[in-house]
Amino acid sequence: MAAAEQIFPTFPQPADEQARLAALHRSAALDHAAGPDFLFLTELAARLCDVPYAFIALVDAERTWTRACVGLQLDSLPRSQSYCAWTVLGETLTEFPDTLADPRSAGLALTTAAPFVRRYSAVPLRTSEGHPIGTLCVLDSRPGGLTPEQRDTLSRLARQVIALIEARANEVALRQSVQRLEELATTDELTGLHNRRSLLHRLKFEVARARRFRAPLAAVMIDLDHFKHVNDEHGHAMGDKVLAAIGKLIRDNVRVIDVAGRYGGEELCVLLPNTPREGALKMAETLRARIEALVHMDGARRVPVTASFGVGAFDHMGVDDADSLLRAADEALYRAKENGRNRVE
Ligand code: GH3
Ligand code: MG
Ligand code: MG
Repeated sequence: MAAAEQIFPTFPQPADEQARLAALHRSAALDHAAGPDFLFLTELAARLCDVPYAFIALVDAERTWTRACVGLQLDSLPRSQSYCAWTVLGETLTEFPDTLADPRSAGLALTTAAPFVRRYSAVPLRTSEGHPIGTLCVLDSRPGGLTPEQRDTLSRLARQVIALIEARANEVALRQSVQRLEELATTDELTGLHNRRSLLHRLKFEVARARRFRAPLAAVMIDLDHFKHVNDEHGHAMGDKVLAAIGKLIRDNVRVIDVAGRYGGEELCVLLPNTPREGALKMAETLRARIEALVHMDGARRVPVTASFGVGAFDHMGVDDADSLLRAADEALYRAKENGRNRVE
């Protein structure tokens, strides 16, 4: 085995390494460039500790990533080459007052080559759960140590850094969960379409917009044909599967500006902004043919399913209210059923 493939670590491992790495990745600190707030804190650290160099280090599995560097340009180092690998082991401050005098730091690249670091002092960045994900460190090319006040200052600044990291992570998590909740609140679980409440909400919005811009607006009401029969013959679960497949088909076949929803039961509805009656009839006919062509299997038995379509539309001069748009679509749907089903009216 080549030396580079040695399996034993060349840096010390903290006892909580796995939990520590999980905390680092949860913090999402590696995903963002450090903004001016972070740089401000490292600049303060350098100034108050009276040294030329400072940075924030994030100690990952194999590499130490540096952020908000002051006085030197660094992007990352192998973990085995970083002083910070030692700092994440400690409870509080770790200090090498003379890097050349300590076997842990004497051979590291930052010691032996530019900027020839001779002293290093750092405080671990501990998450609120207590995992050290990185460090705030100050360095100089002359040996020396921090005064008690400087140690205290560095510790306080480190707490500000971790607070900033955690605030950012919370903000991202909050945004994601609001988005997820919004999706849950507006989506019908079975079909993946807008639920009734969301559909009616969007309808109001689209009617107002059509009025304001004198644009056409169409609604297509869809009702599956003899769906009671599908349930009776193949079971309710099969009926659900069919509904889910048709929901997906509709989602895949509408434009991003269209709003497809489950109006109720096996009745679906698609709102088509900026679309006059002719366009809506065409779109409905395409959907009708695709629903008819969709293959549903109950074991070895094919379950044929069709749907009837009713189109309601406002042309650009005569936009009316939401209720009459739906009523027009519903009446057309009724005619489609009367005239033999599996058709568009
Ligand atoms: P028509 O062609 O006249 O529409 O006949 P139909 O049998 O589809 O009649 P109708 O629309 O009145 O009945 C709807 C049926 O759809 C009744 C109900 O059992 C079934 N259904 C409604 N929602 C669901 C659902 O979420 N899952 C399943 N499996 N069936 C549903
Ligand atoms: Mg039906
Ligand atoms: Mg129905």
